[in-house]
Amino acid sequence: MARGSILKRCKICRRDGRSGFDKCAHKEAQYIISYRVGKKQKRETIGSNKKEAEKILTQRLSEINHGTYQEACDITFNEFIDKWLDEYALPRIKAHTLYKYKNTLKCHVRPVLGDYPE
Ligand SMILES: [Zn+2]
Repeated sequence: MARGSILKRCKICRRDGRSGFDKCAHKEAQYIISYRVGKKQKRETIGSNKKEAEKILTQRLSEINHGTYQEACDITFNEFIDKWLDEYALPRIKAHTLYKYKNTLKCHVRPVLGDYPE
C-alpha cells in the first residue's frame, strides 16, 4: 500500500531565510504532496488549496497501487518555468535578478510557448 503525505510550504517565509514549513498566515503558502514510487520520493506542488492537494494525492496513491502511475512528463512549458524558477533559480540568484527573469518570461516567453508541452 503506497503512502503519502501533504506538506505546506511558504515561499515568503523561505525568502526570509526560514524553512517555510512552519505555520504562518501567508496566503502564498502552497501545499505539496509527497509520495514514494518504487525507491524514488516524489514531490508535487499543488497550490494553495488543501482539498485539491488531498484529492491529487489520493489519485496518485491509487495509481501507484494499481500500477497505472506514470511519471509526469507532459507538463507544459509554463509549469516547467515555474518549477525551474522555484527549484533552480530561487535558491541561486538574487531577488532582483529573479524579478527580471520573471518579467522577461512573462512578457516574452509564456505568451508564445506557455501552453506547449515541454
Ligand atoms: Zn509564510
